[in-house]
Amino acid sequence: MTITAENWKNKVGTSSRNCNCGSWKQHWINITSDQWPNSCSIRGCKNSATLGAHIINTNVTGERIVPACDSCNQLENEFNLKGEITLVSANKAKTCEQ
Ligand SMILES: [Zn+2]
Ligand SMILES: [Zn+2]
Repeated sequence: MTITAENWKNKVGTSSRNCNCGSWKQHWINITSDQWPNSCSIRGCKNSATLGAHIINTNVTGERIVPACDSCNQLENEFNLKGEITLVSANKAKTCEQ
């Protein structure tokens, strides 16, 4: 599945959400079966990825979860993702709570 890396934004007001995985970090790990990456998914950021951020894109339906750092999770402007980032659906009904 190829999905754009450009022009993403944080979804505001998701901090109180949770899912069966226990955390959105664990959600990303469970769905991808990948290793949690060392660094944040936002292009140009070298911080460690500490959480699963809810992000949205006008060209993409639904919300996605990507590994990010605390400061990128608070960005208010659009940002681009690094290449080869795996985006996971934040739709619990289609992922961990089927
Ligand atoms: Zn989950
Ligand atoms: Zn970051």
